[in-house]
Amino acid sequence: MSTFRIAIVGAGPAGYFAAQALQNSATEDRDFAIDMFERLPTPWGLVRSGVAPDHPKIKTVAKVFEKIATAGNFRLFGNVELGTDITAEQLQSHYDAVVISTGSALGRKLGIPGEGLFGSLSAADFVPWYNAHPDFADLEVPLDCDTAVIIGAGNVAMDVARMLALEPSELDSTDTADHAIAALRKSSVRQVYLCARRGPEHAAFTSPELRELPKLEHTNVLINKAQVTDAQVRLGEGAEKDVRSNLEAMSLIAGLEETHHERTMHLEFFLAPQEILGNGRVEEMVFGINTLVNGEIVPTGETRSIKCGLVISAIGYQAESIDGVPYKSGKIANVDGRIEGTNMYTVGWAKRGPSGVIGTNKSDASDVMKLLVGDLATQPKQESDLAQSLVGHRVVTQEGWEKINAAEVAAGELLNKPRRKESKADELLKMAGL
Ligand SMILES: Cc1cc2nc3c(=O)[nH]c(=O)nc-3n(C[C@H](O)[C@H](O)[C@H](O)COP(=O)(O)OP(=O)(O)OC[C@H]3O[C@@H](n4cnc5c(N)ncnc54)[C@H](O)[C@@H]3O)c2cc1C
Repeated sequence: MSTFRIAIVGAGPAGYFAAQALQNSATEDRDFAIDMFERLPTPWGLVRSGVAPDHPKIKTVAKVFEKIATAGNFRLFGNVELGTDITAEQLQSHYDAVVISTGSALGRKLGIPGEGLFGSLSAADFVPWYNAHPDFADLEVPLDCDTAVIIGAGNVAMDVARMLALEPSELDSTDTADHAIAALRKSSVRQVYLCARRGPEHAAFTSPELRELPKLEHTNVLINKAQVTDAQVRLGEGAEKDVRSNLEAMSLIAGLEETHHERTMHLEFFLAPQEILGNGRVEEMVFGINTLVNGEIVPTGETRSIKCGLVISAIGYQAESIDGVPYKSGKIANVDGRIEGTNMYTVGWAKRGPSGVIGTNKSDASDVMKLLVGDLATQPKQESDLAQSLVGHRVVTQEGWEKINAAEVAAGELLNKPRRKESKADELLKMAGL
């Protein structure tokens, strides 16, 4: 039996699905010893620090990750960062192959004047703040204003808008970070504008996210009915299924009986961010108004302003570059997942950019692992265990993570939450027994 040693860097969905694909391709004479490195003390990537707290069912995929982690020859090295604690060179020499699944965590910039003002944030900072990511626990989020503007037309923008527009008590039974629940409870935000540059038919929301809006019990949801009807007329029967379903969901929202809750979410289209105004902090968001001419989005030359104290952009993500790992155009440079000229591969958002749901990473990782397995030499390398060079470093093993997990779930049970997340890295390490 030959055992090939594979390093997987990044314990998000893509990393776990890569591990699973390798476990599934073991044969009678070949298997895999998998070491998964993760920079945080906790695994699960965006399933822990991205997915909205009011969508707990989505997070049950973590049970699959834990099964992968406890099956076969698998070791977790949490609190170990590639580029800081270990190098790409070390990994390449100690392992038969290396899989980079470090995701895509940097928010794309709007590139407009005023973006640097206090009160202008990226969803890439705001989302991990409410999800207890240790790097963002101290983020200052000004919620002392009546109006927030969210820029973007995808599910992340929708999550952000919902989190701001929910009645705070609706978060009590979720795993939202304690500091975020406390801040949102004191929030003065009552009007949340979700603003898209193009029309309703171009929005990248998925229809289930739109269809849950009418079910919000404490939030009015407003959308311009004429804009939705115009889009339906423009597309006629030719609309793709997903677009048709989205427009139907929007039409349903537009046709809702008027409600009079304290909080309102406004879905707005054809607004191109132009400038953020304010004296030391955000005071006003200025948009150029767009229109459609022969299927093309064009500016009308008119502008619209929304007075607000908070602007959050959710217009996409890009990967962070890592020393020793080729990088191009916001992603890890690769051809079909192979990082050319190396024994490294890449999967997930690091490979493709920020597209696709959790499940998309499963088929993607499976395809790349087929290439990896096909490229392996006939005999594994005979190198020393890299773990030896981490002696003295506070490594969160699978056992350590299970201690954190059990403690968080137990603390949550007392409060009727799925878990009570710890957001301080040092506390998490202590919980792991380190
Ligand atoms: C806000 C938000 C909400 C979402 N909601 C949903 C949803 O409801 N349903 C759904 O299906 N999909 C959702 N998605 C999409 C889903 O989260 C992604 O498809 C998936 O997480 C991508 O997996 P990944 O493993 O490539 O990246 P990630 O999940 O980002 O995992 C990458 C991991 O790598 C680690 N890492 C980074 N750099 C290093 C380094 N140098 N060394 C070691 N480790 C490192 C990170 O800490 C992280 O744990 C959402 C995405 C976002 C941003």
